[in-house]
Amino acid sequence: MDYETLRNKMVQEQLISRGIQGEALLQAFLRIPRHLFIPETLKINAYSDFPLAIGEGQTISQPYIVALMTKQLDLTGNEKVLEIGSGSGYQTAILSELSKQVFSIERFESLAKKAASVLADLGRNNIQFRVGDGSVGWQEEAPFDRIIVTAASPKVPAPLIEQLKEGGKLIMPVGESYSQMLTKIEKINGKLISTDICACVFVPLVGKFGIKKE
Ligand code: SAM
Repeated sequence: MDYETLRNKMVQEQLISRGIQGEALLQAFLRIPRHLFIPETLKINAYSDFPLAIGEGQTISQPYIVALMTKQLDLTGNEKVLEIGSGSGYQTAILSELSKQVFSIERFESLAKKAASVLADLGRNNIQFRVGDGSVGWQEEAPFDRIIVTAASPKVPAPLIEQLKEGGKLIMPVGESYSQMLTKIEKINGKLISTDICACVFVPLVGKFGIKKE
């Protein structure tokens, strides 16, 4: 399969044509081989316009959603980023291209191991992984310039708000199962400014400050 052609087509037809802009961001999507993050049997759909199963009942998000969430973070290359929900590691790879350091937490060890192995093979050396409950954040490494949560909860976990730097940005799906709003939070002068981005559906953020049970 000619993955490079499929990747170019994905960027043109799913990202640029839907208004995703920014040279560095688009270049990251052109560079990262998304098919390496997809289970063997689903590789044929690696560049398709929908989410895919990655094991443990979890999903890799549709390319457009990965791009939209990344875009909201306004990364310049200097940021320390916290990601909750490493999943396949694809979003992690995009973040690692566009920021200084990425700290990524995944609750399933099997997914974290696989993601770490693909990213190591790609030579990404600015990422640290942790297996555990990301709803509590990563206190030892706080504060973070940016936080991205790729699983949904009715409220933004309080520890994540605390661990967000002044002037920082957080993006997360907020709401109940099957009905959430992709929400951007900015911390300005100690106050939280919240902006609704779009309706979305994500898997639950299972943890102490998220949803208690799946
Ligand atoms: N962005 C990922 C990618 O590119 O493949 C997809 C992430 S998937 C939609 C959400 C992930 O969040 C799942 O892998 C799930 O196991 C993880 N997750 C859910 N609750 C979590 C928690 N409390 N801490 C860490 N990870 C969690």
